[in-house]
Amino acid sequence: MTNNTRISFEFFPPKTPEGREKLYKTRETLQEFQPAFFSVTYGAGGTTRETTADIVTNLRRDGISIAPHLSFGGDNEETVQALLNRYQEAGVDRIVALRGDMPSGMGAVAQLVYANELVAFIRRHSGDHFHLEVAAYPEIHPEAESYDADIGYLKGKFDAGANSALTQYFYNPDAYFYFLDQCEKAGIDAPIYPGIMPITNFTNLARFSKNCGAEIPRWLRQRMESFSNPEDIRKLGLEVVTDLCETLLEGGAPGLHFYTMNQVEPTAEILRSLSLD
Ligand code: FAD
Repeated sequence: MTNNTRISFEFFPPKTPEGREKLYKTRETLQEFQPAFFSVTYGAGGTTRETTADIVTNLRRDGISIAPHLSFGGDNEETVQALLNRYQEAGVDRIVALRGDMPSGMGAVAQLVYANELVAFIRRHSGDHFHLEVAAYPEIHPEAESYDADIGYLKGKFDAGANSALTQYFYNPDAYFYFLDQCEKAGIDAPIYPGIMPITNFTNLARFSKNCGAEIPRWLRQRMESFSNPEDIRKLGLEVVTDLCETLLEGGAPGLHFYTMNQVEPTAEILRSLSLD
């Protein structure tokens, strides 16, 4: 890993005051790795509108670079504009712009707003103030019409004004490298940062991966499912994800975006295991 490797860390907004305190401590500890930015997820449908904005503006007061995730969900333009204004006034200069998924139980919104439309909306409203990150899917978004169509829509997000992309997590580096080649062929030249999910609780990871279309290789699943001791899962997870990060960086990935799940150790252990130049 070189000094040019861009590292970023993703959090979700905790529901309790204790969770929030823990998050602030996690943030302080992860600062050791000099991340380019932290990001905080957003419950499309407005479920975390206040908590996400609150955490983002609080962390911003500490002077750190912090990027809220944002999507329309069922919100109108005024609500999204108000959030953009609030972020800009707080000194936030980066946003992760998404279509989002409605949380289960919230019912169907008439029509979710595609991320390219949100990117265009932000550019119209806030000009070039924000660096805009968008989502990319090396194993292809589960609802995509086809492989090529998904890449075409990713290109649409860049054409609308996005600056870079963060990927869904994956455990097969070939999927990422092939995806980069196809993006390049489609005329995308912006950086695409791989999303890294440390492995801690394998049962939860397997369930979540099924929903979001991230493939867990058969050999890894078989091995993980043969363990009964959580410590064995942790050790193999650390080894596999550290190897994945090394392969990605050696193959030219411009950086790493960690899904921290608000925990220090799984992410910090991986970063400490990577050979630092
Ligand atoms: P889009 O880019 O809009 O794509 C959605 C689907 O529609 C794809 O299948 C695509 O092929 C297709 N499509 C795209 N544009 C068009 C178009 N113009 N016309 C027709 N079809 C189109 N979810 C949350 O709810 N909150 C979060 O904070 C959050 N953070 C995330 C962070 C990262 C780094 C990633 C990778 C995902 C995150 N997600 C989050 C999940 C994400 O919201 C879902 O995967 C969602 O289903 C798609 O969002 P998107 O922005 O990629 O959508």
